Amino acid sequence: MLSRRMLSRWKKRIAAPLVAVAVGVTLAASACAPPAPSGINPINGYNKPTKPVGVTNGNLPVAKLSNYSGSCRFWSQATGPATAMALAARKAGVNLVFADCYRDYAGQVYWRTWWCNVGKCGNAAVPGTSNHGWGKAADIHDSSGGMPTNGSGYKWLKANAGRFGFINPILTNEAWHWEWVGDGGTMRGYQVRPGLFAWPLRQGMNNGEVKTLQSALRAKGYNVVVDGSFGAGTAGAVKNFQARNGLTADGVVGGGTAWALRMFS
Ligand SMILES: [Zn+2]
Repeated sequence: MLSRRMLSRWKKRIAAPLVAVAVGVTLAASACAPPAPSGINPINGYNKPTKPVGVTNGNLPVAKLSNYSGSCRFWSQATGPATAMALAARKAGVNLVFADCYRDYAGQVYWRTWWCNVGKCGNAAVPGTSNHGWGKAADIHDSSGGMPTNGSGYKWLKANAGRFGFINPILTNEAWHWEWVGDGGTMRGYQVRPGLFAWPLRQGMNNGEVKTLQSALRAKGYNVVVDGSFGAGTAGAVKNFQARNGLTADGVVGGGTAWALRMFS
C-alpha cells in the first residue's frame, strides 16, 4: 500500500518525463526548430576530438589556430575553454602550465623520434595522426614541472576539466595529456560551454559566458543586467573596470580581464 507521501513522490517522478515528452513534441512540430541537442555526455575518457574537415593534421592554417600563450596554440574553438579552465584552476590555487598544444607535422616527427629513442614509441602518435596536430590536445604540467597523479594539478583536472570540455584519454595512460572534446567529440555528444568557442568575449555576443561576465561585474559593484547580452552597458562596465585595474580599456574580455574579475570557477 502506498502512503500519500510516496504516492505524491511517484507522481512527480512520472510528471517530469511527461513534460519532457511534451517539449519534444512541440520542438518537432516547429519547422524552424534547431536540431535536437544530443543527449550524449561527451566527457568520457573514450571520446576523441573531432577531425576538422578540409585541413591536414599538423598543417593547420594559421587562421584556424589561436594563441593561448607564446608557446601554446589551440584549434581556435578550444582556446576559450582552455583559458577558462586554467583561470578556474588558478582561482582554486592550482597552477596549470600548458607546455605543448598544437604540434605541427615536424614537431610530431621530433617527439615520435624522441620517445622511440627511449624505447617508448607509444607515448607519441605516428606523425600525422596526433590529436596535437588538430590543435585539440595539450600537455599540461603543474608547478612541479610534471603532472604527478598524486599532485594538486592532476586532482583538480580530474574533478574539473570536464566542465570545460577536456578529457584525459584513458587509452593513452598519460596524466599530462588532455584533449578537447567540447564540441561533442567523435561520440557526437552535446557541446560543453559553446559560449567559450569564440574567444575573447566582446560586444555583440549573447551567451551564458556573457552572463558569467555580467555576474562577475556585479560582484565588483557594476550595476549591469545579467541577461547574457554583451551590449553597450556591459562594454562600458568592462572598460571602466579595465581602466581602474591597469588593463587595456578596450572592452574586450580575454584572459587578463577574466582573471582580474575572477570570472571563472
Ligand atoms: Zn600529448
